[in-house]
Amino acid sequence: MHHRRIRGAWMAAAAAAFGAVLAAQAPAGWDLVIRGGRVLDGAGNPWVLADVAVRGDTIAAIGPGLPGKGAREIDARGLVVSPGFIDTHTHARRGIFEVPTADNYVRQGVTTIFEGPDGSSPVPLRPFLEKITALGISPNWGMFIGQGSVREAVIGRVDRNATPDELAKMKELVREGMLDGAFGLSTGLFYVPGIFTPTDEVIALAAVAGAMGGMHVSHMRNEASGVLDSVRETIAVGEQGHMPTQITHHKIIGTPNWGRSADTLRLVAEARARGVDVTIDQYPYTASSTGINALLPPWALEGRQADIAARLRDGPQRARIKAAIIDSLKFDRGGGDPKNVQIASCAWDPALAGKNLADITRARGAEATIDHAAETVMWMVEQGGAQGIFHAIDEADLERILKDPVTMIASDGEVPVFGRASPHPRSYGTFVRVLGRYVRERRAISLPDAVRKMTSFPAQRVGLLDRGVLRPGMKADIAVWDAATIADRATFEQPHQYAAGVHAVVVNGQIVFQHDAMTPARPGRVLYGPAYRPGR
Ligand SMILES: [Zn+2]
Repeated sequence: MHHRRIRGAWMAAAAAAFGAVLAAQAPAGWDLVIRGGRVLDGAGNPWVLADVAVRGDTIAAIGPGLPGKGAREIDARGLVVSPGFIDTHTHARRGIFEVPTADNYVRQGVTTIFEGPDGSSPVPLRPFLEKITALGISPNWGMFIGQGSVREAVIGRVDRNATPDELAKMKELVREGMLDGAFGLSTGLFYVPGIFTPTDEVIALAAVAGAMGGMHVSHMRNEASGVLDSVRETIAVGEQGHMPTQITHHKIIGTPNWGRSADTLRLVAEARARGVDVTIDQYPYTASSTGINALLPPWALEGRQADIAARLRDGPQRARIKAAIIDSLKFDRGGGDPKNVQIASCAWDPALAGKNLADITRARGAEATIDHAAETVMWMVEQGGAQGIFHAIDEADLERILKDPVTMIASDGEVPVFGRASPHPRSYGTFVRVLGRYVRERRAISLPDAVRKMTSFPAQRVGLLDRGVLRPGMKADIAVWDAATIADRATFEQPHQYAAGVHAVVVNGQIVFQHDAMTPARPGRVLYGPAYRPGR
């Protein structure tokens, strides 16, 4: 219910702002005018030729041949002018304190990033958000409160149900997260300790956020053989928690499961037909990225590193773990071949970044069979683990999910330190890859629809009332780019490459990127969710 009010308010704000187009034309004297571009408003409409004028942090006027000079002007003839892109799923707290300008995102045209995904966030949120404000960053920043982090704070990383007292404590932490400014509750039911959470408990916690106007977004329990049940569970959280729910980074992992996106999208469509507010986000790559612990069975991951290592030292348990890893390498995240598992970063041996499991297995003196690769995985986990990249997604599933009207774009990326380790290229390329590869080259979706999936749709979804659409009265988050050349350059082999084809990026009225360089401006703001209570 609450969410419908937000959506209504969003549309009313946009409509009221539209009426201000003519009124705002005089007097002249703008802080910034972007001249003569193809203005894609973000709502899915075709572009119109127009100038966009900014005063302070706000779009003041949009129209052809606006009179008056801007203190600064950008010549956008031949270029697209769109709302800045909004990324609802990032792990940007990895790196933001080293790179507060978040170059990898801004250089794609991203102006707002969300953190706290996959059930993982700081608890409580408020001190962390104060740190972000004090740091001063280039893009805007919003957060979710993480269910896994809440459970860990109250129960620990153990496999058992919550007591009534613990459930009450967790509900209170979720409530506090919402008061601190979260946009909703994220879950990561694939990860420890989210994995130990029964659906009823997830619903009870999500409903707390829902009653306060927040949404639920889930890294699902299983994205491989169990993907259909996991989609049903994600829908159930929205349906029984009476709130918006979202399948995040939707994908189908493991060759035996390829093609099941037809079924998952049908489940989503059926749920929407009966009134469940369920949506999807996605990144445009056929590989995922997470810790290599993801190759181990859930029961082996309970507790801390020392607990996991102890199980690996115990003969019978080690054998069971190895069998599960072999299964995972063959049919799940491993993509059927040790070379399909690549190391993104490794704290105890940074030289392993960029190498794959076949390389590392051979370097240890063994043939690169799946059996030997499983031994390599266990050895690496014993050393302290590593971040992995897993090539196990089919292009056909990716495109089918992308084309669905309820799918928005989100990177699942982080803020890399340029040149360090070998991260998934999604951090550098997600948005521009959709516009280059999937719009221009493959014509999978139209340009206005792609931009909608990056701007007004995510803004509406989280309840950002004043961003995501180019209209007078909205905040001036703007990207200027060339539809003919926009592209990702980051690859799995050479990920540290910035986007191509982006000319200028404006956040809250200030230019943060132009002439192929970041500017000194750091105008990004912490954005607060629907239940935010300042100065608690
Ligand atoms: Zn995730």
